[in-house]
Amino acid sequence: MVESPGVSYAPVVLSDSPTSMVISVAPEVARTLDIRLPRLWKSTPIPQQPVPYVPVSSTAVQRVKAIAASVKFDPVVASIVGNISIPQMRKDVRYLTGEDPSSGIMSRHAFSKGALQAAAWLQEQFQSTGASCELKPFLRGFSPNVVCTYAATEDTTETMLLSAHYDSRGSFGSIRAPGGDDDGSGVTALLAIARTIAHKGIAFRKNIQLVAFSGEEQGLYGSKAYAREMYELGANLTLMIQADMLGYRAPGEPAQLGLPESIGSLEVMQLVSNISAIYSPELVVGTTRACCSDHQSFHELGFPATQVFERAGPIADPMYHNSGDLSDREGYDFEQIRSIAKVQVRVVCCSLKLLAAHEPSVAASAVRDPPPCGRLRLARVELVSQQVSIC
Ligand SMILES: [Zn+2]
Repeated sequence: MVESPGVSYAPVVLSDSPTSMVISVAPEVARTLDIRLPRLWKSTPIPQQPVPYVPVSSTAVQRVKAIAASVKFDPVVASIVGNISIPQMRKDVRYLTGEDPSSGIMSRHAFSKGALQAAAWLQEQFQSTGASCELKPFLRGFSPNVVCTYAATEDTTETMLLSAHYDSRGSFGSIRAPGGDDDGSGVTALLAIARTIAHKGIAFRKNIQLVAFSGEEQGLYGSKAYAREMYELGANLTLMIQADMLGYRAPGEPAQLGLPESIGSLEVMQLVSNISAIYSPELVVGTTRACCSDHQSFHELGFPATQVFERAGPIADPMYHNSGDLSDREGYDFEQIRSIAKVQVRVVCCSLKLLAAHEPSVAASAVRDPPPCGRLRLARVELVSQQVSIC
């Protein structure tokens, strides 16, 4: 679709099936289509040009594969997230949803005042944990991405990225869009990770980014812009994991962790699955057809990426894209969010330890036979006495 000022576009249905439809609308309508669609329908803009296929490089695949194949239980990594606080998570998500009346947020729809307020608040919260944050605008009218970085203790460009989207969507015709699960839960997990980093004084060998995207609901606009920026800069991204909808647990079902069936890197998925099995056995891991969150933007540009989701199966949350998507309701499970947040941190910590083990200063035998995370425990114990943990 080409933007031509003054040209009017009548909506045209180009194809139609029971599960999908291709329509042509004016660009400004395309960006706000989410508020006109029934709740289980999602819009995805079709690019004006063919999307170039950028495969994940074999070096990047091998790096993730080596980590996934070598993961073993490490009590230090296990204990690093032992203190994630559910009362704090509840407080955080209630601010974002507006269930905390002091926030006054009615909606975090990407064009709303509430989204701008949420972005500024998130920046402040992440910065209070020691991250440097930037509000990065990407498209006129949209609230900005919130990009936060914990700089590496080593001189390296290598980066790992954990993300969620803070924009939300409500019921058709309602101005209330609390987005407690979609994706207040993923953002709350990011905040919990940040607060743990501060509380435990964790320092990272590589750069760690925590990113809250906007414009996800309109077609991944925020993450597309940021992934493109990283691609053009030739970013050295080991992996990215998007957390989108972590909180809902259907009646009678166990706590779960869903990984995408169709979009993302198999190797990152395997790594997350291995880490979850070892460190969070309370989660039943499986695949989901729920798709197309912000990890897609990175995967399309050749970065190893995946998503974590609340269910090994299709979306079951009755409040999905509904103005009733609050945190204080039946089925909203903070324990499940916490378990998944722990998996995210452990993926980062365990990966960094293994990457460190592959560095040239390590004995050649270690390079041929990657050690388990636990082999680096001694160094960490020494650092703990200085009140610093290092991942
Ligand atoms: Zn979402």
